[in-house]
Amino acid sequence: MTLKELGEFGLIHRIVPRSGSGRGVTLGIGDDAAAVIPTPGLETLITADMLVEGVHFDLTLTTPLELGAKSLAVNLSDIAAMGAVPRFTLLSLAIPPTFSLELLDPFLDGFTSMAQRHGVTLVGGDTCSSRAGFVISVTLMGEQRSDRIIRRSGAIPGDRIYVTGTVGDSALGLTLLRRGERNGGAIIRHLAPLPRNEAGQLLAERGMATAMIDISDGLAADLGHILTQSGRGATLFLDRLPLSQEYRDRVPALADDLFALALSGGEDYELLFTAPADRQEEIRSLSAAVGLPMTDIGEIAAASGLLFLSPDGSPYTPTSRGFDHFS
Ligand code: ADP
Ligand code: MG
Repeated sequence: MTLKELGEFGLIHRIVPRSGSGRGVTLGIGDDAAAVIPTPGLETLITADMLVEGVHFDLTLTTPLELGAKSLAVNLSDIAAMGAVPRFTLLSLAIPPTFSLELLDPFLDGFTSMAQRHGVTLVGGDTCSSRAGFVISVTLMGEQRSDRIIRRSGAIPGDRIYVTGTVGDSALGLTLLRRGERNGGAIIRHLAPLPRNEAGQLLAERGMATAMIDISDGLAADLGHILTQSGRGATLFLDRLPLSQEYRDRVPALADDLFALALSGGEDYELLFTAPADRQEEIRSLSAAVGLPMTDIGEIAAASGLLFLSPDGSPYTPTSRGFDHFS
Protein backbone atom coordinates (compact mmCIF):
# COMPACT_ATOMS: atom_id res chain seq x y z
CA MET A 1 0.00 0.00 0.00
CA THR A 2 1.20 3.52 -0.72
CA LEU A 3 0.60 6.56 1.42
CA LYS A 4 -1.70 7.95 -1.19
CA GLU A 5 -4.03 5.03 -0.51
CA LEU A 6 -3.59 5.18 3.25
CA GLY A 7 -4.10 8.95 3.57
CA GLU A 8 -2.91 11.35 6.25
CA PHE A 9 -5.26 10.15 8.96
CA GLY A 10 -4.60 6.51 8.14
CA LEU A 11 -0.95 7.29 8.70
CA ILE A 12 -1.54 9.01 12.03
CA HIS A 13 -3.52 5.95 13.12
CA ARG A 14 -0.46 3.85 12.42
CA ILE A 15 1.67 6.16 14.55
CA VAL A 16 -0.63 6.39 17.59
CA PRO A 17 0.01 2.85 18.92
CA ARG A 18 3.73 3.61 18.84
CA SER A 19 3.46 6.65 21.04
CA GLY A 20 2.66 4.81 24.28
CA SER A 21 1.88 6.61 27.50
CA GLY A 22 5.00 7.99 29.04
CA ARG A 23 5.56 9.53 32.44
CA GLY A 24 4.49 13.15 32.50
CA VAL A 25 2.30 12.98 29.39
CA THR A 26 -1.25 14.11 30.17
CA LEU A 27 -2.25 14.43 26.52
CA GLY A 28 -0.48 12.58 23.71
CA ILE A 29 -1.20 12.27 19.99
CA GLY A 30 -4.75 13.08 18.90
CA ASP A 31 -5.55 16.60 20.03
CA ASP A 32 -4.44 19.96 18.67
CA ALA A 33 -1.43 19.98 20.96
CA ALA A 34 0.17 17.62 23.44
CA ALA A 35 0.32 18.38 27.16
CA VAL A 36 3.21 17.33 29.38
CA ILE A 37 4.17 17.93 32.99
CA PRO A 38 7.81 18.94 33.50
CA THR A 39 9.64 17.52 36.51
CA PRO A 40 9.47 20.17 39.25
CA GLY A 41 12.70 22.13 39.62
CA LEU A 42 14.13 21.19 36.24
CA GLU A 43 14.65 23.36 33.19
CA THR A 44 13.38 22.23 29.78
CA LEU A 45 15.85 21.95 26.90
CA ILE A 46 14.49 21.90 23.35
CA THR A 47 16.30 20.90 20.17
CA ALA A 48 15.35 20.16 16.56
CA ASP A 49 17.12 18.56 13.63
CA MET A 50 16.00 18.08 10.08
CA LEU A 51 17.00 15.27 7.73
CA VAL A 52 16.38 15.80 4.02
CA GLU A 53 16.52 13.07 1.40
CA GLY A 54 19.37 13.71 -1.01
CA VAL A 55 21.09 16.03 1.47
CA HIS A 56 21.39 13.99 4.66
CA PHE A 57 20.50 10.51 3.53
CA ASP A 58 20.15 8.32 0.49
CA LEU A 59 17.43 5.66 0.58
CA THR A 60 19.55 3.41 -1.61
CA LEU A 61 22.31 3.36 1.04
CA THR A 62 20.37 3.28 4.32
CA THR A 63 17.56 1.00 5.46
CA PRO A 64 14.38 2.76 6.64
CA LEU A 65 14.86 1.12 10.07
CA GLU A 66 18.29 2.73 10.42
CA LEU A 67 16.98 6.06 9.15
CA GLY A 68 14.15 6.11 11.71
CA ALA A 69 16.56 5.40 14.53
CA LYS A 70 19.13 7.93 13.28
CA SER A 71 16.58 10.73 12.95
CA LEU A 72 15.98 10.55 16.70
CA ALA A 73 19.61 9.67 17.53
CA VAL A 74 20.94 12.95 16.14
CA ASN A 75 18.55 14.83 18.43
CA LEU A 76 19.37 12.62 21.41
CA SER A 77 23.00 13.51 20.81
CA ASP A 78 22.22 17.24 21.17
CA ILE A 79 20.41 16.60 24.44
CA ALA A 80 23.36 14.44 25.59
CA ALA A 81 25.72 17.32 24.81
CA MET A 82 23.78 19.54 27.23
CA GLY A 83 24.01 16.89 29.93
CA ALA A 84 20.23 16.63 29.97
CA VAL A 85 17.72 13.77 30.19
CA PRO A 86 15.60 13.31 27.02
CA ARG A 87 11.82 13.17 27.61
CA PHE A 88 9.37 14.07 24.82
CA THR A 89 9.62 14.13 21.05
CA LEU A 90 7.66 15.44 18.04
CA LEU A 91 8.04 13.80 14.64
CA SER A 92 7.18 15.82 11.53
CA LEU A 93 7.27 14.20 8.12
CA ALA A 94 6.91 15.41 4.53
CA ILE A 95 6.35 12.24 2.55
CA PRO A 96 6.25 11.65 -1.22
CA PRO A 97 2.74 10.28 -2.02
CA THR A 98 4.25 7.25 -3.75
CA PHE A 99 6.10 6.25 -0.58
CA SER A 100 5.22 2.71 0.41
CA LEU A 101 4.27 1.37 3.79
CA GLU A 102 7.14 -1.09 3.41
CA LEU A 103 9.38 1.91 3.92
CA LEU A 104 7.28 3.80 6.43
CA ASP A 105 6.58 1.02 8.90
CA PRO A 106 10.25 0.09 9.47
CA PHE A 107 11.09 3.80 9.62
CA LEU A 108 8.58 4.21 12.45
CA ASP A 109 9.88 1.02 14.09
CA GLY A 110 13.44 2.39 14.09
CA PHE A 111 12.28 5.70 15.51
CA THR A 112 10.18 4.01 18.20
CA SER A 113 12.85 1.58 19.33
CA MET A 114 15.39 4.39 19.68
CA ALA A 115 12.79 6.33 21.68
CA GLN A 116 12.06 3.39 23.98
CA ARG A 117 15.73 2.73 24.56
CA HIS A 118 16.16 6.26 25.86
CA GLY A 119 12.87 6.62 27.76
CA VAL A 120 11.51 9.15 25.26
CA THR A 121 7.78 9.48 24.53
CA LEU A 122 6.44 10.47 21.10
CA VAL A 123 3.76 13.07 21.86
CA GLY A 124 2.93 14.43 18.41
CA GLY A 125 4.15 15.82 15.15
CA ASP A 126 2.90 16.84 11.76
CA THR A 127 2.44 15.07 8.46
CA CYS A 128 2.19 16.45 4.96
CA SER A 129 3.00 15.37 1.44
CA SER A 130 6.21 16.23 -0.33
CA ARG A 131 6.74 16.80 -4.04
CA ALA A 132 10.46 16.42 -3.69
CA GLY A 133 11.95 13.82 -1.37
CA PHE A 134 11.30 12.51 2.11
CA VAL A 135 11.86 15.18 4.78
CA ILE A 136 12.08 14.37 8.49
CA SER A 137 12.01 16.97 11.24
CA VAL A 138 12.38 15.83 14.83
CA THR A 139 11.96 17.99 17.90
CA LEU A 140 13.19 16.65 21.22
CA MET A 141 12.66 18.00 24.70
CA GLY A 142 14.82 17.11 27.67
CA GLU A 143 15.36 18.39 31.16
CA GLN A 144 18.06 19.03 33.69
CA ARG A 145 18.72 21.11 36.79
CA SER A 146 19.76 24.57 35.61
CA ASP A 147 23.11 24.44 37.44
CA ARG A 148 23.98 21.16 35.73
CA ILE A 149 23.31 22.15 32.13
CA ILE A 150 26.61 22.08 30.23
CA ARG A 151 27.08 24.85 27.68
CA ARG A 152 29.64 25.34 24.96
CA SER A 153 30.91 28.48 26.62
CA GLY A 154 32.41 27.16 29.87
CA ALA A 155 35.96 26.06 28.89
CA ILE A 156 38.71 27.44 31.14
CA PRO A 157 42.47 27.69 30.37
CA GLY A 158 44.21 24.57 31.66
CA ASP A 159 41.14 22.37 31.15
CA ARG A 160 41.80 19.09 29.37
CA ILE A 161 39.88 18.31 26.19
CA TYR A 162 38.26 14.89 26.03
CA VAL A 163 36.45 12.99 23.33
CA THR A 164 34.33 9.86 23.80
CA GLY A 165 34.60 6.75 21.62
CA THR A 166 36.48 7.03 18.34
CA VAL A 167 36.39 9.74 15.67
CA GLY A 168 36.33 9.58 11.89
CA ASP A 169 34.55 6.24 11.54
CA SER A 170 31.27 7.72 10.33
CA ALA A 171 32.98 9.71 7.58
CA LEU A 172 35.02 6.64 6.65
CA GLY A 173 31.79 4.63 6.57
CA LEU A 174 30.16 7.13 4.20
CA THR A 175 33.23 7.01 1.96
CA LEU A 176 33.08 3.21 1.87
CA LEU A 177 29.33 3.24 1.16
CA ARG A 178 29.90 5.55 -1.78
CA ARG A 179 32.56 3.16 -3.06
CA GLY A 180 30.02 0.34 -3.08
CA GLU A 181 30.86 -1.41 0.21
CA ARG A 182 27.95 -2.41 2.43
CA ASN A 183 29.42 -4.00 5.56
CA GLY A 184 31.71 -3.20 8.42
CA GLY A 185 31.92 -1.24 11.64
CA ALA A 186 32.51 2.17 10.05
CA ILE A 187 29.45 1.82 7.83
CA ILE A 188 27.38 0.91 10.88
CA ARG A 189 28.76 3.96 12.68
CA HIS A 190 27.52 6.11 9.80
CA LEU A 191 24.09 4.54 9.31
CA ALA A 192 23.24 3.70 12.92
CA PRO A 193 24.96 6.14 15.28
CA LEU A 194 24.52 5.59 19.02
CA PRO A 195 24.14 8.83 20.96
CA ARG A 196 26.16 9.10 24.19
CA ASN A 197 23.33 10.05 26.53
CA GLU A 198 24.41 8.04 29.55
CA ALA A 199 27.88 9.58 29.48
CA GLY A 200 26.57 13.12 28.90
CA GLN A 201 24.09 12.87 31.72
CA LEU A 202 26.63 11.50 34.21
CA LEU A 203 29.21 14.14 33.29
CA ALA A 204 26.58 16.76 34.07
CA GLU A 205 25.30 15.17 37.27
CA ARG A 206 28.83 14.85 38.66
CA GLY A 207 29.74 18.39 37.60
CA MET A 208 32.77 17.16 35.72
CA ALA A 209 32.58 18.95 32.36
CA THR A 210 33.03 22.71 31.99
CA ALA A 211 31.93 22.78 28.32
CA MET A 212 30.48 20.18 26.00
CA ILE A 213 29.31 19.70 22.40
CA ASP A 214 28.45 16.67 20.29
CA ILE A 215 30.52 16.05 17.17
CA SER A 216 28.24 16.52 14.20
CA ASP A 217 30.26 18.86 11.96
CA GLY A 218 33.66 17.30 12.65
CA LEU A 219 35.98 17.40 15.64
CA ALA A 220 37.93 20.48 14.51
CA ALA A 221 34.84 22.54 13.69
CA ASP A 222 32.99 21.51 16.85
CA LEU A 223 36.00 22.19 19.06
CA GLY A 224 36.11 25.54 17.26
CA HIS A 225 32.55 26.23 18.51
CA ILE A 226 33.61 25.57 22.11
CA LEU A 227 36.68 27.80 21.71
CA THR A 228 34.78 30.67 20.10
CA GLN A 229 31.98 30.58 22.64
CA SER A 230 34.41 30.22 25.55
CA GLY A 231 36.69 32.94 24.15
CA ARG A 232 39.72 30.61 24.41
CA GLY A 233 42.21 28.67 22.29
CA ALA A 234 43.59 25.13 22.47
CA THR A 235 46.37 22.74 21.61
CA LEU A 236 45.35 19.39 20.15
CA PHE A 237 47.74 16.43 19.98
CA LEU A 238 47.00 14.39 16.86
CA ASP A 239 48.80 11.27 18.12
CA ARG A 240 46.24 11.09 20.94
CA LEU A 241 43.17 11.05 18.66
CA PRO A 242 41.14 7.89 19.32
CA LEU A 243 41.10 6.15 15.92
CA SER A 244 39.52 2.75 15.47
CA GLN A 245 41.54 -0.15 14.11
CA GLU A 246 39.36 -0.13 10.98
CA TYR A 247 40.12 3.58 10.53
CA ARG A 248 43.88 2.98 10.88
CA ASP A 249 43.71 0.03 8.48
CA ARG A 250 41.62 1.64 5.75
CA VAL A 251 42.36 5.38 5.68
CA PRO A 252 46.05 5.23 4.58
CA ALA A 253 44.98 3.69 1.25
CA LEU A 254 42.23 6.28 0.77
CA ALA A 255 44.03 9.50 1.71
CA ASP A 256 47.53 10.89 2.10
CA ASP A 257 46.54 12.49 5.41
CA LEU A 258 45.61 10.06 8.20
CA PHE A 259 43.97 12.74 10.34
CA ALA A 260 41.85 14.71 7.86
CA LEU A 261 38.74 12.53 8.10
CA ALA A 262 38.95 12.26 11.88
CA LEU A 263 39.21 16.05 12.20
CA SER A 264 36.71 17.18 9.60
CA GLY A 265 34.57 14.20 8.65
CA GLY A 266 31.69 14.80 11.04
CA GLU A 267 28.61 12.83 12.08
CA ASP A 268 30.54 10.98 14.78
CA TYR A 269 27.94 11.87 17.42
CA GLU A 270 30.61 11.48 20.08
CA LEU A 271 30.83 13.97 22.94
CA LEU A 272 33.65 16.50 23.02
CA PHE A 273 34.06 18.09 26.44
CA THR A 274 36.48 20.01 28.60
CA ALA A 275 37.22 19.29 32.27
CA PRO A 276 39.67 20.57 34.89
CA ALA A 277 42.95 18.64 34.95
CA ASP A 278 42.32 17.46 38.54
CA ARG A 279 39.18 15.54 37.45
CA GLN A 280 41.26 13.12 35.37
CA GLU A 281 40.85 10.16 37.74
CA GLU A 282 37.08 10.65 38.07
CA ILE A 283 36.76 10.78 34.29
CA ARG A 284 38.76 7.57 34.02
CA SER A 285 36.42 5.75 36.40
CA LEU A 286 33.29 7.22 34.76
CA SER A 287 34.62 6.03 31.41
CA ALA A 288 35.14 2.53 32.80
CA ALA A 289 31.70 2.54 34.45
CA VAL A 290 29.83 3.40 31.24
CA GLY A 291 32.14 1.28 29.06
CA LEU A 292 32.97 4.19 26.76
CA PRO A 293 36.53 5.44 26.15
CA MET A 294 37.12 9.09 27.09
CA THR A 295 40.42 10.22 25.63
CA ASP A 296 42.39 13.30 26.65
CA ILE A 297 43.36 14.85 23.31
CA GLY A 298 44.52 18.34 24.25
CA GLU A 299 44.36 21.38 26.49
CA ILE A 300 42.52 24.69 26.59
CA ALA A 301 44.74 27.81 26.32
CA ALA A 302 44.03 31.38 27.39
CA ALA A 303 44.89 32.89 24.00
CA SER A 304 42.60 32.24 21.06
CA GLY A 305 43.62 29.99 18.17
CA LEU A 306 43.62 26.24 17.68
CA LEU A 307 47.09 24.64 17.37
CA PHE A 308 47.36 21.09 16.06
CA LEU A 309 50.56 19.20 16.89
CA SER A 310 51.65 16.31 14.66
CA PRO A 311 52.95 13.08 16.18
CA ASP A 312 56.52 14.37 15.64
CA GLY A 313 55.72 17.56 17.56
CA SER A 314 55.64 19.88 14.54
CA PRO A 315 52.62 22.10 13.89
CA TYR A 316 50.04 20.50 11.58
CA THR A 317 47.98 22.45 9.09
CA PRO A 318 44.58 20.83 8.72
CA THR A 319 43.42 20.09 5.20
CA SER A 320 40.19 22.00 5.63
CA ARG A 321 38.70 20.16 2.68
CA GLY A 322 39.96 16.82 3.91
CA PHE A 323 36.81 15.13 2.81
CA ASP A 324 37.48 16.08 -0.82
CA HIS A 325 40.39 13.65 -0.85
CA PHE A 326 37.89 10.87 -1.19
CA SER A 327 35.50 12.10 -3.80
P1 ADP B 1 -3.65 19.65 13.04
O1 ADP B 1 -4.37 19.65 11.73
O2 ADP B 1 -4.39 20.29 14.16
O3 ADP B 1 -2.24 20.10 12.89
P2 ADP B 1 -3.00 16.94 12.65
O4 ADP B 1 -4.08 16.26 11.92
O5 ADP B 1 -1.79 17.39 11.90
O6 ADP B 1 -3.61 18.13 13.47
O7 ADP B 1 -2.49 16.00 13.81
C1 ADP B 1 -3.39 15.27 14.60
C2 ADP B 1 -2.61 14.63 15.72
O8 ADP B 1 -1.67 13.72 15.19
C3 ADP B 1 -1.83 15.62 16.55
O9 ADP B 1 -1.84 15.17 17.88
C4 ADP B 1 -0.44 15.52 15.98
O10 ADP B 1 0.54 15.88 16.96
C5 ADP B 1 -0.38 14.07 15.60
N1 ADP B 1 0.56 13.81 14.50
C6 ADP B 1 0.44 14.23 13.21
N2 ADP B 1 1.48 13.80 12.47
C7 ADP B 1 2.28 13.10 13.30
C8 ADP B 1 3.51 12.40 13.15
N3 ADP B 1 4.17 12.37 11.98
N4 ADP B 1 4.04 11.82 14.23
C9 ADP B 1 3.42 11.88 15.44
N5 ADP B 1 2.25 12.49 15.64
C10 ADP B 1 1.68 13.11 14.60
MG1 MG C 1 -0.82 19.21 11.67
